[in-house]
Amino acid sequence: MKLDSKTPGGPLEQKWDKHRFDLKMVNPANKRKFSIIVVGTGLAGGSAAATLAELGYNVKVFTYHDSPRRAHSIAAQGGINAAKNYQNDGDSIWRLFFDTIKGGDYRAREGNVYRLAQVSVNIIDQCVAQGVPFARDYGGLLANRSFGGAQVSRTFYARGQTGQQLLLGAYGALMRQVAAGKVELHTRKDMLDLVLVDGVARGIVVRDLITGEVEAHTADAVVLATGGYARVYYLSTMAMASNVTAIWQAHKKGAFFANASWGQIHPTCIPRHGDRQSKLTLMSESLRNDGRIWAYKNKGETRPPGQIPDEDRDYYLERIYPSFGNLAPRDVSSRAAKRVCDDGFGVGSTGHAVYLDFRDAIARDGRDVIDSKYGNLFQMYHEITDEDPYQVPMRIYPAPHYTMGGLWVDYNLMSTVPGLFVIGEANYSDHGANRLGASALMQGLAGGYFILPYTIGGYLSGEKLPKIAADHDACRGAVSGVKDRINRLLSLNGSRTVEEIHKDLGLLMWEKCGMSRNEEGLREALRRIPEIREEFWQDAKVVGRNEDLNQVLENADRVAAYLEFAELMVQDALQRTESCGCHLREESQTPDGEAVRKDDEYAFVSAWEFQGVGKEPALHKENLDFEFVSLSTRSYK
Ligand SMILES: Cc1cc2nc3c(=O)[nH]c(=O)nc-3n(C[C@H](O)[C@H](O)[C@H](O)COP(=O)(O)OP(=O)(O)OC[C@H]3O[C@@H](n4cnc5c(N)ncnc54)[C@H](O)[C@@H]3O)c2cc1C
Repeated sequence: MKLDSKTPGGPLEQKWDKHRFDLKMVNPANKRKFSIIVVGTGLAGGSAAATLAELGYNVKVFTYHDSPRRAHSIAAQGGINAAKNYQNDGDSIWRLFFDTIKGGDYRAREGNVYRLAQVSVNIIDQCVAQGVPFARDYGGLLANRSFGGAQVSRTFYARGQTGQQLLLGAYGALMRQVAAGKVELHTRKDMLDLVLVDGVARGIVVRDLITGEVEAHTADAVVLATGGYARVYYLSTMAMASNVTAIWQAHKKGAFFANASWGQIHPTCIPRHGDRQSKLTLMSESLRNDGRIWAYKNKGETRPPGQIPDEDRDYYLERIYPSFGNLAPRDVSSRAAKRVCDDGFGVGSTGHAVYLDFRDAIARDGRDVIDSKYGNLFQMYHEITDEDPYQVPMRIYPAPHYTMGGLWVDYNLMSTVPGLFVIGEANYSDHGANRLGASALMQGLAGGYFILPYTIGGYLSGEKLPKIAADHDACRGAVSGVKDRINRLLSLNGSRTVEEIHKDLGLLMWEKCGMSRNEEGLREALRRIPEIREEFWQDAKVVGRNEDLNQVLENADRVAAYLEFAELMVQDALQRTESCGCHLREESQTPDGEAVRKDDEYAFVSAWEFQGVGKEPALHKENLDFEFVSLSTRSYK
């Protein structure tokens, strides 16, 4: 199969406008004849569902949460990027486009990224109109702060709760449509399979998490907005139920999976503190606006941080990357932290941490100013660690946080399965090999409010779609497949908990396919994953029954999907012998640990086709043509 990105030709600035004009439209009176399933109510799914319903489509929304407001997007702290140039500091759509392409290490589609930057300005207007309480400056204009990988301030924020406030905006818009009868809301439903009729996405199979009932729902198109899969590492900053299940099942039904191994390791997380932890906590990147990062200059340092003078501190980011300093992008900052800790200069009892220090900022701006910007983050840190960051520096260490990989989509956000659209973190997205801070919210809302609502119309208007009922053979087959899967899981009566096996997988993935990778480690992971998978099916224990709320069962199905997916992730990392963005292949780096890209060989998106569990997937390449920027070695020095 030849991958066709459907990126329109012509000047970069005109591609999206022209494409929108060329797309066939659905007459307003005909929109009510179409139904669309949206899975996920985070920023991507919530905004898409609300907008599609506002346009007149009939929308059915699914989430496993008890309310759309509980989606993982609520956890986003630091902010959302937009090229408004409110600071008059030289920002522009072109600059946001360029920063994103460069930040992603030249592994994203130019057309998509430019559109993202264009649409970013509409998002802020939309959210302000909804009443999102973005921070404002003294004169009343919306305030901005800086995030990594940019030299302008373009990040809009609502204290450290930006995701929550944006989600409330999308939720309000969604619930308005629920009240208007245009959106049917299905909470506590876990999507466990995709239904295809004649190779076209026509429905989903869900399990009711309270009653255990498994049922099919049908529509004219299906949109997956199910978020990211960093929980493959077990420990991550993602919500505990974040999963790969929905997109993995879609992959097994024919949707190609792109750049599966590109996961972002965020540099500023509270370090792991023991073996009994199930979750890691992010300290927002926005803290790097004012906090300074340092490690010990001398090995074996024992003095408390407040007693270590500046000459014995290594502000290593400021030293190595003087022009970006503490705002170097995430991949670069994470690897630098790992290096100083691996070399023995890490702080705290484990040595796997560095300091994020506000001493100078508090002395310069005063505690009140720092409190007004980051108060809730400081409070959160204090509650978790029992250390007061106003008095002692925060300890931070990189942790899995976001996944750039996901289902391959074309310019219309449609996967390789006709009628299956994928938005938000669930698609392989516009961030290339490394996402810049505050760009995920932008991408999720761009897709949901401003891109998918047009492109899906182009699809629906061009197709003849017979009505499919939930008792169609394809639905019955998919429902019975899911029931068999559930029964198989419930029959597991071994000696290990699902959680323990997930931890084994997570540790293996972190060590062999985490912040840095090499061929030997990846090959070892490929040997070990099938063994862990086998152990799961032979020796895991799943207690309880299907007909009740059973979180062990829910989790078992998610872990089963991770155990299959992990192999794809490793294959993806193994195939790409270059380093790019978050993907550091140790065989391809400079002596001082900087990534070495191989543009001649690897300027493509890896899109994988499923060939069976445990079988080597087939690689398809979407070549990335750079017409408007020239590829260069990223430098933040
Ligand atoms: C701690 C933290 C802080 C962050 N801060 C920022 C930030 O400041 N700025 C920024 O740009 N980005 C940030 N990010 C990233 C950003 O929050 C996410 O990438 C983004 O919110 C993802 O949105 P989404 O709508 O794609 O998915 P999600 O918000 O993850 O929503 C997924 C939805 O899908 C549903 N779902 C999933 N699987 C199923 C299934 N099988 N069946 C039914 N429903 C399902 C869930 O119930 C949920 O409703 C942060 C991430 C983390 C972890």
